[in-house]
Amino acid sequence: MFDAYPEYIEEFSIEIADFNPIGPTAHISLPETMPKRNNGIINIQNNDDWCFGWCVLGALHPVKVHPERNPHRLYGDFVEKLNMDDIPIPVPVSTPVYKKFEENNPEISLCVYEWHNQNKCLDFRYVSERRGEEYKQVNLLVITEEERSHYCIIKDLHKLVYNHSKHKGQKYLCRYCLHVYSAEKGYKEHLPKCKSLNNAPQRPQMPVKNRSIKAFYNHKCMQPNPYRIFWNLEILTEKLTPEEKTKLIHTERLQMHKPCGYCYVVVRMDSSLNYEIMSYDLYRGPDALERFVTKIEKEQANIQEDLSAPAEMILASGDLKSYNEATECWICKKPFIKPSQEALQKFEEAKHRLLEVKEWEASIGEDHPEKKKIQKEYREALSALNRKVKDHDHINGKYRGPAHDTCNKKLRIGSFETKVPLICHNFRGYDSHSLMKVVSKFTVDKLNCIPENIGKYKAMDVDQLRFLDSF
Ligand SMILES: [Zn+2]
Ligand SMILES: [Zn+2]
Repeated sequence: MFDAYPEYIEEFSIEIADFNPIGPTAHISLPETMPKRNNGIINIQNNDDWCFGWCVLGALHPVKVHPERNPHRLYGDFVEKLNMDDIPIPVPVSTPVYKKFEENNPEISLCVYEWHNQNKCLDFRYVSERRGEEYKQVNLLVITEEERSHYCIIKDLHKLVYNHSKHKGQKYLCRYCLHVYSAEKGYKEHLPKCKSLNNAPQRPQMPVKNRSIKAFYNHKCMQPNPYRIFWNLEILTEKLTPEEKTKLIHTERLQMHKPCGYCYVVVRMDSSLNYEIMSYDLYRGPDALERFVTKIEKEQANIQEDLSAPAEMILASGDLKSYNEATECWICKKPFIKPSQEALQKFEEAKHRLLEVKEWEASIGEDHPEKKKIQKEYREALSALNRKVKDHDHINGKYRGPAHDTCNKKLRIGSFETKVPLICHNFRGYDSHSLMKVVSKFTVDKLNCIPENIGKYKAMDVDQLRFLDSF
């Protein structure tokens, strides 16, 4: 067998691995908290102290395949083009050094960032003052590990911040202030305004013609809430039992605050701020909180019933005359405008169709298939006219004044929508905490609150009920 030799060779390959030992002052791997893949960073594997230089060259002369390997071979030809006069090697993390470097190389705009391990975000180290397309942008990342520093190239800042928000599309990041934009338009608008890190971007916007007047538009706030409830809890402090004390690990708790009573007053108010007490309750005894919830729910049902039947309009003598003569809406203070011919014609058509439906229903004796649609069209045509209507207080029935149809609707009271404020003294500091324990007992599916911390609430919306502090 020893003198046997192959007749032919099908394939022959030699694989040679590059032996490139990494020196202690050279390459450092990326911090643990940094995105591992597709992070837009090129971490050059140099074995000398020249990582700053290699990074700048790598950013200026990008290589597609393995840009991190063997910088001597990839970027060695360009070393001469970099002016490193008076710059210490290895390049320290220091602003004057970066300034000197920019001075030496007038075509480069340099930004250096650090990775913040705790917050998992980028921090500034140095931001260039050179703006504009004419400069070659170089973005570097400096990572520090036990007295050693190492520079990497940030090839794509956008990729590095990809995980910073829920927006998973292309992001546009300002390299001077790290503000992120999800749309290119916003980013392009920002760039000329950006005054870099310590100067927040601002753009003076002068009022333009026709849009220079600020006025009150929130007309629905002109009307006070028809109902409000004033309430308070009475709370006793009880000593903890030995079993309850053993449950405690860190904090020493001595006593427990236990609600022992409540009182409330339901007040109804009309728009002239005349009020009357509709009902009240005072209770002292066990299960005070649970009872309070049940009682308040009953009061809410009564309020809804009352609000669903608004008072009939009461016209005083002279009201009708002043209504007919009025040329201005009492709510928005704007004149009544004659509806356009087109709107009038639309209204007439809708009215005619609705009459047809009614006739059809009267003769056939069943619901018209398109009744709802036609009714909706009629309502829309009617509100498009924006006629003059009589506005009246739904609580006391008094006529308030002539109003636009749309303005009148803004002051509408909804029996299930209009909020009922429940006002309590020091709700924020004390009673909200107790109320939170029973809030699940309310038969509602909508809960909303403005929390101050985990156990303190400024305000709380339990469906139609709005718990507020009297302060
Ligand atoms: Zn900016
Ligand atoms: Zn109006």
